[in-house]
Amino acid sequence: MNPPPHHPYHPRAWAEVDLAALRQNLDAARRHFGGDLMAVIKADAYGHGLARVASALDGRVRFLGVATLDEAAAVREAGVRGDIFLLGPSLAEERAEFVRLGVTPSISSVEEAAGFDRIGRTRGAPVRVHLMVDTGMGREGIPPAELADAWEKIQSLDGLDVEGIATHLPSADEDAAFTTGQLARFRETAASLGGPGRFRWIHASNSAGLLAHPGAGCTLARPGLLLYGVPPVSPPGGAESPLSPVMRLMARVTLVRTLPADHGVSYGRDFITSRETRVATVGIGYGDGYPRSLSGTGAEVFVRGRRLPVIGRVTMDQIMIDATTHPEVAPGDDVELFGPNIPVTEIARRAASIPWAILTGITRRVSRVHR
Ligand SMILES: *Cc1c(COP(=O)(O)O)cnc(C)c1O
Repeated sequence: MNPPPHHPYHPRAWAEVDLAALRQNLDAARRHFGGDLMAVIKADAYGHGLARVASALDGRVRFLGVATLDEAAAVREAGVRGDIFLLGPSLAEERAEFVRLGVTPSISSVEEAAGFDRIGRTRGAPVRVHLMVDTGMGREGIPPAELADAWEKIQSLDGLDVEGIATHLPSADEDAAFTTGQLARFRETAASLGGPGRFRWIHASNSAGLLAHPGAGCTLARPGLLLYGVPPVSPPGGAESPLSPVMRLMARVTLVRTLPADHGVSYGRDFITSRETRVATVGIGYGDGYPRSLSGTGAEVFVRGRRLPVIGRVTMDQIMIDATTHPEVAPGDDVELFGPNIPVTEIARRAASIPWAILTGITRRVSRVHR
């Protein structure tokens, strides 16, 4: 592989980011949902690089979804003109800046609505907002018991243009029955406040919701994970996923040695060689976000067209793999930690984690190489 353009030399560990795959996954999501999309790009676009991902999606989606003020500012700095949506509640002192950046906030309380209303009245143009209702997530949004009162107050605020109504699904990947009921309650709630005639945007679904409950009576969906090519749930009947992984986490073999039988490998000497073993050292570790909890789980990497097992504990900067059966493995070889050949879902399962956390856990030390 050629060195990435911004590197004078080939890096030790890097993440290839395939922006064509990102757009294919977006198209797959659009076909499946049938409505408009908000692309969720919080947390550095799930570790894929916020500015590059935002630019690649700008003009192809109705909204880009962010979690923080810094993320919204970075998206604008990347030259994105399209609508940005704030997925969670805002702090009082952040609100003027959100409005200045042209961010559409979700509103989780009357206090928050009143804050944006003041800003809207001061600048003489209403702030576009979406009403967030809590139909089961327990994290944000107006609780059902308070909704009627809150809506009466919020509706009367001239400084707001409430163009959307939204909720969030806590169990779309785990509990289909609950989610079906929740979506029905959300539709009723939206209808009771005016429905599609009153709200241009009605949205509830994350990736799992979009896949398991397409449409769902909504006009907008908010996929994150699936855009990055990772299925939040296994496709039914073991079918092949139509998604392509966007990130391929790579590192290089730095050293290959033969150790005798009965030799410890890595900290704690959890792993002891049972035979003469060709041990390849690879330049990636938990300091790069390769999970330490993979230690001793039988995790595999992909090198020279083969899967080889990680042996011993994952250290901060290095891991060891057993290359005894593959004498051709040599220093300088490229190693895939996850990507097209090793699904990140497999890594997450072995690490007792979730793919969202693995992707967002890849640290800054890993250069992102966009294609
Ligand atoms: C993060 C987030 C999403 C995207 O979730 P995925 O499971 O990655 O698709 C959607 N909506 C809200 C409110 C979120 O916080």
